[in-house]
Amino acid sequence: MTHYTGLVDRYREFLPIGLETPAVSLCEGNTPLIELKHLPAQWGGKCRVLVKFEGLNPTGSFKDRGMTVAVTRAREEGSEAVICASTGNTSASAAAYAKRAGMICFVLIPEGNVAMGKVAQAIVHGATILQIKGNFDDGMRLVREIAEEMPVAIVNSINPYRLQGQKTAAFEVVDELEAPPDYHCLPVGNAGNISAYWLGYCEMAGHVTQVGEACGFSRDQRLFPPAIVTQSRPVMLGYQASGAAPFLRGEPVENPETKATAIRIGNPQSWDAAWAVQRESRGWFDECTDEEILAMQSQLASQEGIFCEPASAISVAGLMRDIQSGKVKEGSTIVCTLTGHGLKDPSVVGDLTLQSVPATLESIRNVVENKLNADTTA
Ligand SMILES: *Cc1c(COP(=O)(O)O)cnc(C)c1O
Repeated sequence: MTHYTGLVDRYREFLPIGLETPAVSLCEGNTPLIELKHLPAQWGGKCRVLVKFEGLNPTGSFKDRGMTVAVTRAREEGSEAVICASTGNTSASAAAYAKRAGMICFVLIPEGNVAMGKVAQAIVHGATILQIKGNFDDGMRLVREIAEEMPVAIVNSINPYRLQGQKTAAFEVVDELEAPPDYHCLPVGNAGNISAYWLGYCEMAGHVTQVGEACGFSRDQRLFPPAIVTQSRPVMLGYQASGAAPFLRGEPVENPETKATAIRIGNPQSWDAAWAVQRESRGWFDECTDEEILAMQSQLASQEGIFCEPASAISVAGLMRDIQSGKVKEGSTIVCTLTGHGLKDPSVVGDLTLQSVPATLESIRNVVENKLNADTTA
C-alpha cells in the first residue's frame, strides 16, 4: 500500500491538473462513510443510511477538496494571492492551503456571523481577514469586484476548479459502496457542493450533465476504468434552513437568517447548476427549521457518536422527514454528507457549564453507581 498523498494525486487523471504539476495538498479526502446504527430504526421504514463525514478533512470541512484543486491551479498559473468571501469554512481552508503553497490569502467574512473555531483557523494560518459589516452575499459581490482590479485569484465555488475537486467525494462513495446510493442528501448554501457531487456521479455513470458543461471540463467516460462505470445515479436531495431558503422561495432571499451559519446565504452562486441537478436527478429541495437542525445535530452526537456542524445535520434532518412521509422509498440506501465538524462551533450545542466533584474515590463511586443503576432500571 502506498502512502496516501491527497485527492489530486489519487484522481489526477479525472481532474483539470497537469500530470507533472505538484499538488498543494494536506492529504484531504479519503473520508469515512459511516453507517448510522441507531437513528434510522427510530424513523420507521427500512432504509440503510450512511454519512460521509467530511468534517474529518484537514481543516474540518469538505471545502478542502475544492481548495486543493483551486490552489494547485492558482499556483500553476502563477498567482501570488487568493481571495474569498466566506461564512467561515472556505476562509479556514483557503488560509491553510494558501500557506501550504506559500501564497497570500485574503478573506472577507460577515461580522458577527462566523463560528469562532473558523475565525481561529483563518487567524492561525495567517490570512488577512476583512470582517465586513454585511453578509456573505455582500462579501461575494465585493470579491468579484476586487478580482477585476487586482491580481488575486478567487477561490470561492464560482471558481470551477473548486467543484472539480469536490466531485471526488462522489467517486469515493461509489468506490466504497461499489454502486451509487439511491439518494444523496446535502445541505445547500451556495449549492456548489450539490452540483459537484452530481458532476462526480454523472462522470462515473458516463452521463453528460449541464453542470459539467458549465464547468467546461467534464471528462469522457472512456477515461474511467470500466469497473467503476455504472449506469445508475442517485436522486439528489438538497435541504436549506427555513430562514435562508432561496431554492424554496424561487428567488434570492434579502436577509438570510439561520443558526446554521455555514448555509446563511440568500443569493446562491450555483443557482442554475443546482436547478439542473434537481431536474436531471429527479430530486427535490426542502427546508428545515433551526429547531429541527439543532435537534438532529444533538441526536447524531448523543446517539451515533458523530459531532457535525449544524449546517451538516440538516442533511439528516431533512432525510428523516422524507423517510417518515414516504417520499424516500422503503429499503433505499442513502448517503448524507456531513459537511463540517462540530468542533468548529461548540457554542451552539447549549449550556457548556460543568459541575465539579471532590477528588475522592467516594464521590466518583457515588456518581458511577447512580448512573449505572439509573440506566439498568430505565
Ligand atoms: C460551505 C458549507 C456548506 C454549503 O455548501 P454549498 O456548496 O455552499 O452549498 C454546508 N455546510 C458546511 C459545513 C459548509 O462549510
